[in-house]
Amino acid sequence: MKKKDKLDEEQIQLFWKLADIEKYGCAEVKILNGKDAYVGYFRDPETLTKAISHFNGTHNIYFGRSPRPLSFMDTEAGNKMILGHSGAKNTDIEWLTSFVMDIDPTSAERPSTDEEYQTAIGFAKKIQEAHKGSAIIGSGNGAYIWMPIQPIRISDKNRERLNNQLNVFETWGRSFLKESHLEDKLRIDKTQDWVRVYRIPETLNVKRQGENDRVYRKCEIFSPYDFHVVDGLAQEIVSIQFDEEERGNSQQKKTAHNPSINQQRVSIEDVCRYYGFELKPYGGKLRGVCPIHPGATNELSFMIDPEKGQDGMFYCHSSEHEHRPKDGYYKTGSPIQLIMTKEKVSWSEALKVAREHIMRK
Ligand SMILES: [Zn+2]
Repeated sequence: MKKKDKLDEEQIQLFWKLADIEKYGCAEVKILNGKDAYVGYFRDPETLTKAISHFNGTHNIYFGRSPRPLSFMDTEAGNKMILGHSGAKNTDIEWLTSFVMDIDPTSAERPSTDEEYQTAIGFAKKIQEAHKGSAIIGSGNGAYIWMPIQPIRISDKNRERLNNQLNVFETWGRSFLKESHLEDKLRIDKTQDWVRVYRIPETLNVKRQGENDRVYRKCEIFSPYDFHVVDGLAQEIVSIQFDEEERGNSQQKKTAHNPSINQQRVSIEDVCRYYGFELKPYGGKLRGVCPIHPGATNELSFMIDPEKGQDGMFYCHSSEHEHRPKDGYYKTGSPIQLIMTKEKVSWSEALKVAREHIMRK
């Protein structure tokens, strides 16, 4: 077994700054080795480093993307790692502070080779070049793209929409992967898990110890980044349907039933109107011939729910589409994704089309 590497505290400090947790709660750290699971909560990088040092090289050490409520510091797991603690649930999460994409080689059944690892890092760099403000972290197997956003308070009102936006982010990642002709080599993990944990830079990836004479790779921050730059892409995805109320601007009270909701925003209905696609009422919803089918058809398989207003996603249940997602529809997406598919353009270009031609002023 490899001898324990001393953790570089400076790098952990850097990561701590990037994760930007302490203003909004505390950090959840999980330590796993296939048998044992430890959980601890921390508010400063020094205590965290001390608490995890002992496990480095024998266990995998992870960090929760979203801040956990401060009250977790008052539990027995405050400032120390406790065996058998279960950790926060999705419903505990109060703030969304970043978008994180986990890019892994498709060789999921075995640890990645150096070449596969470099391909993942290379793809992450491509994303970073296009969208400044994100950090690249090598996970020891693949890459994480860590994109800080202006923190958003999560409520019952916006939870579903934020989930949709994370879904848009994930879909964007997959389409970029496709554009880059890397879909056979890399895959992008689900991003909608609020309590999802990621490796802490400087710690060793000891997953599948000893397989294929594998050398443990160190998780590390791969690129310099500017903490003061909010990531353009993630922020665009968040702001496209941002409710002013959440920003503390409460003079414009809006509800899903208020027709003013789509002012300065774009809905699926707006996009369909722009392209001249006809939608007909159908049991409280609207449906029509799918505008983005690969083959021509008269089937009314395309559906939207106008009650959901700005949160609206479209759904198509026709098998003309290639891949069938798990929720029973063959194709779902946001207004921007509809434009992307229709115009065959990138996310930012589709947003431009929406801003210049579709959004109501
Ligand atoms: Zn369709």
